[in-house]
Amino acid sequence: MGYRVLVDLDKCVGDGDCADVCPVGVFVLQDDHAVAVHPEECLGCESCVEVCESGAIVIEEP
Ligand code: SF4
Repeated sequence: MGYRVLVDLDKCVGDGDCADVCPVGVFVLQDDHAVAVHPEECLGCESCVEVCESGAIVIEEP
């Protein structure tokens, strides 16, 4: 099983930085917040965690 990509919708401000930085297209923006539409592609690089100023993303290891 792959990584779990969790977005805290109470923290997400929908700036899209995670979608911009993710090398494998895990995120799209829907209704002003990020949704992990392809979590199975996640590489666990944590670039999205580092770029998210709201601290809205948590990557859980398998
Ligand atoms: S950890 Fe890396 S590959 Fe996984 S969702 Fe975040 S930016 Fe994309």
